[in-house]
Amino acid sequence: MAAYNKVTPEIAERLKAVVGGKRFSAGDAVNPDYSHDEMPIYGKYFPEAVCEAESTGEVSAIMKICAENRIPVTPRGAGTGLAGGAVPVCGGVVLSTARMNRILGYDMKNLVVHAQAGVLLQDLAADAQEHGLMYPPDPGEKTATLGGNVSTNAGGMRAVKYGVTRDYVLAMTVVLPSGEIMRLGKTVCKTSSGYSLLHLMIGSEGTLGIITELTLKLIPQPDMDVSLILPFADVAGCIAAVPGIKLSNLDPQSIEFMDIDIIRSSAAFTGSPVFPTEMCGEPVGACLLVTFVGNSEDELFAKMEKLAGVVEEAGAMDVLVVDTPTLKKDVWAARSSFLTAIEADTKLMDELDVVVPVDRIAEFLVYIRGLGDDVGLTVRNFGHAGDGNLHIYCCSNDLPEDEFKKRAKAFMDKAYGKCAEFEGQVSGEHAIGHAKKEYLKESVGDTAYGLMGAIKNVFDPDGILNPGKVCTDTCREGE
Ligand SMILES: Cc1cc2nc3c(=O)[nH]c(=O)nc-3n(C[C@H](O)[C@H](O)[C@H](O)COP(=O)(O)OP(=O)(O)OC[C@H]3O[C@@H](n4cnc5c(N)ncnc54)[C@H](O)[C@@H]3O)c2cc1C
Repeated sequence: MAAYNKVTPEIAERLKAVVGGKRFSAGDAVNPDYSHDEMPIYGKYFPEAVCEAESTGEVSAIMKICAENRIPVTPRGAGTGLAGGAVPVCGGVVLSTARMNRILGYDMKNLVVHAQAGVLLQDLAADAQEHGLMYPPDPGEKTATLGGNVSTNAGGMRAVKYGVTRDYVLAMTVVLPSGEIMRLGKTVCKTSSGYSLLHLMIGSEGTLGIITELTLKLIPQPDMDVSLILPFADVAGCIAAVPGIKLSNLDPQSIEFMDIDIIRSSAAFTGSPVFPTEMCGEPVGACLLVTFVGNSEDELFAKMEKLAGVVEEAGAMDVLVVDTPTLKKDVWAARSSFLTAIEADTKLMDELDVVVPVDRIAEFLVYIRGLGDDVGLTVRNFGHAGDGNLHIYCCSNDLPEDEFKKRAKAFMDKAYGKCAEFEGQVSGEHAIGHAKKEYLKESVGDTAYGLMGAIKNVFDPDGILNPGKVCTDTCREGE
């Protein structure tokens, strides 16, 4: 297959003509932010040019120019990704959909919203609420775009009850690598109508097409909710309580897990210690944060009573009700900022976003702690205990970068090996990007990895869309 071409001054002029001078940059004028996402440890790669599109037509026109000239294109939303997915590892053009940020309208009879791909999660959440509706997916980073969320199949803190982003996408407008515009899906609740290209596009990390518009399912806003903090003496006891909570038919919206180290970091970062570090003089080892939604106070009270019985038996040190709107806001703000709290006091870090069967979480975390000690890295962790998705960070403040990377690689090799032994998956929600390809290949095996590559070739025979990601091995060498 032919090599990629460079963005020549002539091609740059053609791209600039599509988006206009203010939304085009090239060479030294490119904002360095486009060279990385939220994990710069995976390397910085500068694009030759950046185009900030404002319409599907512009995206299509840019793709046509790049397809004609075999120039790699990396789609980008807000750049909050954690796997290097939006980073232009093969150079070429970064095509940002962040300015496509209009909510196009609600269909109240069918409970859907039509929105452009660059709308921020926080903006849709707030706007839907004003319509008495809720968009259930709730990933921690609220300034991510909907296009990024759909492309990574983002999860978040309500997945245990409502599912993940995939479950809320009914239709989309997508621009194929050739520049052709396609509509996938319909505003219907079910379908058995051939292969689901819509679901292939969801979670494909911008390697199959560029999403420009979305039709998303909403639900009526629940009347009320209550959150409870459940402190435990240790991690194992804390995690062991989770299956009992799930089995008790209480249908929690969230079951979040945090250990004492992250509780302390979060308190230092936010300046508001909302999670307990000791109960009646006894040290707390870990906490669960559980939320219920309901339509009346009686309903919520009954759920809380039943939960108290279940977790008391499981060894909870107490059941703390998050009982004021201010406390609720502070508790969830603290939970949402765990990663930012780690970033704030860590110089170098790498992350693991594995998902394991719920009954193996504690064992996995104990293994990981030991692994951190073995390789000489600090381990921080928290996660979505209700669905087995763990966010584990190996960190260092004093190692040189080369030595850190060597140790992090040794850590990751063993951690992913243990995840495979536990029948887990490489990524629960942050996706593969270019950082986790090797582990994806090992995890799914040659046949599945080969099929992924074959699907990619059908959509993108010239390999120009987000090369070097998920299942494409390298950038093309020059001819
Ligand atoms: C503090 C913090 C907390 C986080 N918490 C969570 C969490 O709880 N759950 C979770 O799932 N993630 C979480 N993330 C990760 C991140 O926010 C998500 O991966 C998010 O979905 C990325 O959206 P984005 O707009 O920033 O996309 P980007 O980072 O810009 O891109 C991500 C991927 O999507 C592709 N892409 C972006 N836009 C488009 C488009 N329009 N068409 C096609 N492809 C596109 C890119 O090519 C790339 O492969 C967190 C990140 C941070 C920094």
